[in-house]
Amino acid sequence: PVVTRFAPSPTGALHIGGARTALFNWLYARGRGGKFLLRIEDTDKARSTDENTQAILDGLTWLGLDWDGAPTSQAAQADRHAEVAHQMLADGHAYKCFATQDEIEAFREDARANKVSTLYRSPWRDVADPDHPDLPFVVRLKAPRTGATTLHDEVQGDVTWQNEQLDDMILLRSDGSPVYMLAVVVDDHDMGVTHVIRGDDHLANAFRQNLIYDAMGWSKPTLAHIPLIFGPDGKKLSKRHGATGASEYQALGYPAAGMRNYLTRLGWSHGDDEFFSDAQARDWFDFDGIGKSPARFDTKKLENLCGQHVAVAENAALLHELEVFLVATDAPALTAAQCNGMLKAMPSLKERAKTFPELLDKAHFILTSRPISIDEKPAKSLDDVHKGILAELTPQLQTASWSREELEGIVAALAEAHDTKLGKLAGPLRAALAGRGVSPSIFDMMLILGREETISRIQDATC
Ligand code: GLU
Repeated sequence: PVVTRFAPSPTGALHIGGARTALFNWLYARGRGGKFLLRIEDTDKARSTDENTQAILDGLTWLGLDWDGAPTSQAAQADRHAEVAHQMLADGHAYKCFATQDEIEAFREDARANKVSTLYRSPWRDVADPDHPDLPFVVRLKAPRTGATTLHDEVQGDVTWQNEQLDDMILLRSDGSPVYMLAVVVDDHDMGVTHVIRGDDHLANAFRQNLIYDAMGWSKPTLAHIPLIFGPDGKKLSKRHGATGASEYQALGYPAAGMRNYLTRLGWSHGDDEFFSDAQARDWFDFDGIGKSPARFDTKKLENLCGQHVAVAENAALLHELEVFLVATDAPALTAAQCNGMLKAMPSLKERAKTFPELLDKAHFILTSRPISIDEKPAKSLDDVHKGILAELTPQLQTASWSREELEGIVAALAEAHDTKLGKLAGPLRAALAGRGVSPSIFDMMLILGREETISRIQDATC
């Protein structure tokens, strides 16, 4: 069975790049009936915070990327990591190095002067039984110094490194604490991770991590190092390009389904398919479709996909997501009546809306309450002549059946009776019902507001 994991360091909130890495791991596991695990890599005590961890969990939750089991803490496994280092020591795959900082610095200076590699070569590597019980030491891995290592990567293909470029990396520091590189391998092994999908900035680490697998005789996970995300200018995505945090996109009101679709397409493709469902993404997602060059973040494309997802979303589900958006952005919650109105209006609200703020803006006529305030420009269309004409609507609306056809007929007849066009009445009527120059169609609004509210708003505006 497939087991993937997302292993963020809680030194910051969830970045778009991290969200995409999590998404690829989630898609790969979910599409194969596998498990998607979450490991918080909190070994950097100084920079890891609980707030960041929470922000990462919140971001994943918003994106709908559910993980299996409870998230694990890497720092909590430190004893286990140290145990593995001691195992390697006992098996002769690692050694105690008593070199002091000064000695290491002197080695490097020498190497620089002689223009040879400055990778530290410890003299303790071949000391079979060092007897320095009282001196501090680090535990180093015995790395091969000749030959080459080729790793197969599902995205990058076969990648080869010369072993002379590998140093005897430290596994345990002189205070006995394990290093990050060791922790990752031990955790991946212990968690049964079968596929490591992560940013290609970790590709060099894979060669060092590979040595630990070899030393322990552990089976190795399949690797897939995915290219980073660039901004529209082809440079690594950063603050300069605008929003980079998942929570920023949530606050901008992009629907999660649109965001998932867009992030899935960011660096992965399936023929010409742009717009697809989660089920399709899970079925289709594979390493074959991952591009080798960095994808460029394109807000227009994101918005386009979000608009398409809003259009096909189920009305009640969309309303629910909108309510979650309001909570997440500390906005006032909708009243039951507003919810009802929104639900009824959803088919027309959904047209051409890409984000929740756009949906809310279109729903302004539902969310506002009497006496509604009327913007300056539409207020001008409500001159005395038009007020007089609109006032004639009231008695007819009292008895109308409230079907679209009948309402259209009443307003059309009114226009005709005053020798004007329906279009000329739409402006003042829109001003009376919505208080704005732009809104959903007046008949949609009348149907949703209902008889009583419609008549009251017209009376408010015409008296
Ligand atoms: N904690 C690492 C990061 O945040 C990920 C390491 C890994 O996926 O192996 O970039």
